[in-house]
Amino acid sequence: MSDVIIVGGGIIGLLSARELLQAGAKVTLIDKSEVGTEASWAGGGIVSPLYPWQYQDPISDLVRWAQAYYPNLSDQLREETGVDPQFNPCGLFMLDSQEHEMALWWAQRLNAHLREVDVAHAYEKVPALNRRFKRALSLPAVGNIRNPRLLKALRLSLLSDKKFTLIEGQQVNHVVLHEKKLIGVATSNGEFHSDAVLLAAGAWTPLLSDELELCLKIEPVRGEMLVFEPCPGLLPSIVLHEGKYLIPRLDGRIVVGSTIDRVGYDKSTTLNGREALMNAALDILPELESLKVEKHWAGLRPGSPAGLPYMGESSKLNGLFVCAGHYRNGLVTAPASARLMTNLILKQKPEIDPLPFSLDRETNLEEMI
Ligand SMILES: Cc1cc2nc3c(=O)[nH]c(=O)nc-3n(C[C@H](O)[C@H](O)[C@H](O)COP(=O)(O)OP(=O)(O)OC[C@H]3O[C@@H](n4cnc5c(N)ncnc54)[C@H](O)[C@@H]3O)c2cc1C
Repeated sequence: MSDVIIVGGGIIGLLSARELLQAGAKVTLIDKSEVGTEASWAGGGIVSPLYPWQYQDPISDLVRWAQAYYPNLSDQLREETGVDPQFNPCGLFMLDSQEHEMALWWAQRLNAHLREVDVAHAYEKVPALNRRFKRALSLPAVGNIRNPRLLKALRLSLLSDKKFTLIEGQQVNHVVLHEKKLIGVATSNGEFHSDAVLLAAGAWTPLLSDELELCLKIEPVRGEMLVFEPCPGLLPSIVLHEGKYLIPRLDGRIVVGSTIDRVGYDKSTTLNGREALMNAALDILPELESLKVEKHWAGLRPGSPAGLPYMGESSKLNGLFVCAGHYRNGLVTAPASARLMTNLILKQKPEIDPLPFSLDRETNLEEMI
């Protein structure tokens, strides 16, 4: 049996733990705080990239794999734990996209569920929409998952497995070598040993990988979000316009996202961010004016060149694996990423081609998006 330490309990670490346990491994997951409280908690939970055609095909492959996986995962976790991640197959309307033609071309090329619809169709489906829009694209198969619940359910499910150990509130400071071989990790409370170590520390991964000379181009990219109090029925679908989006939760809450700022490891919310989100939200759905904002928060996305995550084993240190840098698509691509990492760690034939995600790939910094 393989013994694996996972550093970081965001969606990537938690789902990797689930996949590894299901494949028979023993897993210890270590998080510097409580699991599921960073980017994976802060995100919107849209089970699609916002603009899928802006990414390379390997991302579309991960997305396609994971989109088919999410509804079952949500059901299984609800049955296992009693916590419902509320996968909501609500569809998505994209309004007045400046890349309308590019989107249609991409959909045709990859046979994706994206089509042009008369804007009247969008008004019929979402009657409260501002009537100023001229064109609409529909992605009827896209849903959203209530990510804070997903994380809570995953944590509970993992804790019920005897092969799983959870260590929270301990920061991993470095990996531990013995005679140039990887034997585990060190926290301020001591060492933990294993056959393999998976770094899944999101935006913080370079703080661990840089001293191992892995040169991963991952940087924190702050995103702010708001949520409006419930108004059941007001928003039946996700709506996206000029980079800002509204997401309907099943209880009627409406989540608004998001901003993009490169300000280092700073998770504070800002007045500018709040104003930008409010302006966009009221422009898309004017009736939100009468609803209260319940919460405003920010999280740090693990930004990477072209949004392409690093997933694989270090060529310099056997047994050291990385799965990080999912930027804006970590929730949607997590199930496929976790399956790939499980295949690689357990030396199984990979179900997804690992090559495009290699830790040693050439990176062009201009591709930082
Ligand atoms: C505002 C916003 C909106 C988003 N919307 C979406 C969306 O709609 N759809 C989508 O697919 N994606 C979305 N994303 C992106 C997605 O949330 C991220 O890509 C994803 O959550 C990254 O997951 P992760 O597990 O790599 O990182 P994280 O969730 O950040 O987890 C990393 C974990 O590692 C731990 N850690 C870090 N350093 C150490 C250490 N040294 N020792 C121990 N533990 C450590 C942290 O405490 C944390 O728990 C959004 C992100 C944001 C911020």
